Amino acid sequence: MTSSLRFKMVNEACKKQPLRIKQPEERPSEYFGRKVFGKVAMHKFLPEDVYKKMCDVIDNAAPFDLTIADAVADGMKRWAMQWGVTHYTHWFQPLTEGTAEKHDGFVEHDGKGGMIEKFEGKLLVQQEPDASSFPSGGIRSTFEARGYSAWDPTSPVFIMGDTLMIPTIFISYTGESLDYKAPLKKALFAVDKAATAVAQYFYPKVKKVKTNLGWEQEYFLVDESLYSARPDLIMTGRTLLGHESAKNQQMDDHYFGSIPKRVENFMRDLELHALELGIPCKTRHNEVAPNQFELAPIFEECNLAIDHNMLIMSIMKKIARKHGFRCLLHEKPFKGINGSGKHNNWSLSTDTGVLLHAPGKTPLDNLRFVTFIVETLKAVYDHNGLLKASIMSASNSHRLGANEAPPAIISSFLGKTVSDILEHVEKANDEIITIKGKTSMKLDIPSFPELLIDNTDRNRTSPFAFTGNRFEFRAIGSEANSASAMIALNTAVAEALTNFKARVDNLIEKGEVKEKAILKVLKEDIVYCKPICFNGNGYSEEWKEEAKKRGLDCESSCPIIFDRYLDEKSIKMFESMNVMNKFELQARNEIKWETYIKRVQIEARIFGDICINHIIPIVTRYQTSLLDNVQKMKQIFNDAELEELSSNNIAIIRNIAKHESFIIEHVRKLIDARKVANKIESNRERAIAYHDTVAPLIEEIRTHVDKLEIIVDDELWPLPKYRELLFII
Ligand code: ADP
Ligand code: MG
Repeated sequence: MTSSLRFKMVNEACKKQPLRIKQPEERPSEYFGRKVFGKVAMHKFLPEDVYKKMCDVIDNAAPFDLTIADAVADGMKRWAMQWGVTHYTHWFQPLTEGTAEKHDGFVEHDGKGGMIEKFEGKLLVQQEPDASSFPSGGIRSTFEARGYSAWDPTSPVFIMGDTLMIPTIFISYTGESLDYKAPLKKALFAVDKAATAVAQYFYPKVKKVKTNLGWEQEYFLVDESLYSARPDLIMTGRTLLGHESAKNQQMDDHYFGSIPKRVENFMRDLELHALELGIPCKTRHNEVAPNQFELAPIFEECNLAIDHNMLIMSIMKKIARKHGFRCLLHEKPFKGINGSGKHNNWSLSTDTGVLLHAPGKTPLDNLRFVTFIVETLKAVYDHNGLLKASIMSASNSHRLGANEAPPAIISSFLGKTVSDILEHVEKANDEIITIKGKTSMKLDIPSFPELLIDNTDRNRTSPFAFTGNRFEFRAIGSEANSASAMIALNTAVAEALTNFKARVDNLIEKGEVKEKAILKVLKEDIVYCKPICFNGNGYSEEWKEEAKKRGLDCESSCPIIFDRYLDEKSIKMFESMNVMNKFELQARNEIKWETYIKRVQIEARIFGDICINHIIPIVTRYQTSLLDNVQKMKQIFNDAELEELSSNNIAIIRNIAKHESFIIEHVRKLIDARKVANKIESNRERAIAYHDTVAPLIEEIRTHVDKLEIIVDDELWPLPKYRELLFII
């Protein structure tokens, strides 16, 4: 037995048994949503008129009537206290990723020397958390640091431990958004308004259009003891070094494989908590890479789905620890194997039950289907650079463009059936006919296969693929707040639909028949959108060339991609749709650049530390033992014999010296590159310097460290290796 730390960790990890979890006796349908103040609880704890008003707010986006705030707060408090809740918090989504909360107790003095539990409407509706340390990109200077959190009554409050969690938006004193949720709600409102107007061409009774989002969350699990011996994982969420393991995902034996017992118990525990919180978890499976898994609920209204995703990411981390794991949400925790994404299945549907991105039964339904498909494509085409910016981050940039994930060029896959339909519409006959006295149009659109959803061939290389009754935006990072992508996508679609409606109305005003006007505009847009449609292999080199020719955004540098938010057409889009103004966009970009810098900076610092304090001393120790061996051989063998017998060790000694000196010299360069970058005033320029000079050095040095890993005595190596991190569970 060796005494090395790593071996202790590995042994400990190997011996771990699955944690026994007590399963509730009820069925999931019985405990679903019981920790949520949803309609069932509201009905029980609110007076009838208050309950009705709340339903109107939730179902019809009616404005919240402040006069019922006290009654709602009191009902919530009584409901929550049944669960032993003692505190409440406004829960919000600052621009740091993740969520934020500050707990306050229900207790108040009762005026008679004792305490009572109290929760008032004004505390529910609005608060002023002292959150001056959250990034605001300059929106709040510190002396005017007030930020307000305001309750979002459309996302129900819920219980975590002893705390009542109240979903809120976070805005500045002067009304600018300081979070993800405020602009998201505005984008959803914009798309509702625009899509409703267009849907009414087809179905006059439509009053509201809802955005649906079904996310699929990928993640890795690593044994906690191995994790704790990797400073890079602890500090940055990814491994900055580590030689590829002999076996990784090449056998395709992990994907959809049987789930290991320890992991299955974790998943069941997680699902139990998620279902109690009203998150409709449905699917779980092994993913492509070893120790990589996926979780997906049934789709929900977009704002709620995002709250649920943020919530599940935080509970995943907590529950993983209970089971002796660490849950890695980073997009690329391990080099050489697949990273993790978060597919966002997105669609629009009406309050009358029509799924706008699904084909229907009548020619009119199908004209509607084509309309929503084409205008979505137009949105994606017009703003392909911006959509890429919306999913870009320091961590996701390791995944995009690598040969396993969506390429760093946004295009849309439609599949053969839908491509054929669009081609057909482009050439369709728009002759007007009269049936039973009614003027109509001979649409000449063939009836679509009813189950298009099973018909669509899947193209895994496409970042924005049509999958039968929805689009799947696949480029989103696993640890990201999906709101960023959903703000950009929904605003772009709102703009495209608004524009579409204006053009159609213009033709109608000039005397064109409605259907004919629609078809005319669609035909123009189908031709216009062609460059964004791509059904081929998104990973191929030819596509990169082709995409450039088509004028798609091919930039791959993360800090430069953020510029797309400040393009004139992006600002125009966000402002005209009332989602964000130029000032807010500028402020957000400052935060994006700052976050990028900080993440690369932390990586560079911890990496330098590991190289100099962990790797070099061990490598030198091993090299010394070889030198010692060569020296001692001299006492026994003559020169000719030595030549033959020690040549291997001497070669290793030389090899080690070569790598060592490279590492030491380049870690120094890494420090210098940081120092140079840190002097740059502008966040954007500093981020570019970090991207161009600091980040590549880490990769360059890493190759040498990884070479040393396979030279040096395994017993001495100080950090758990890939074969341990990825296969022990
Ligand atoms: P895949 O086959 O791509 O792994 P699934 O069929 O399991 O995906 O569905 C993935 C997600 O898409 C789920 O959350 C599911 O509820 C959601 N989804 C299904 N239909 C729609 C739709 N029309 N709009 C939005 N999301 C949808
Ligand atoms: Mg999917």
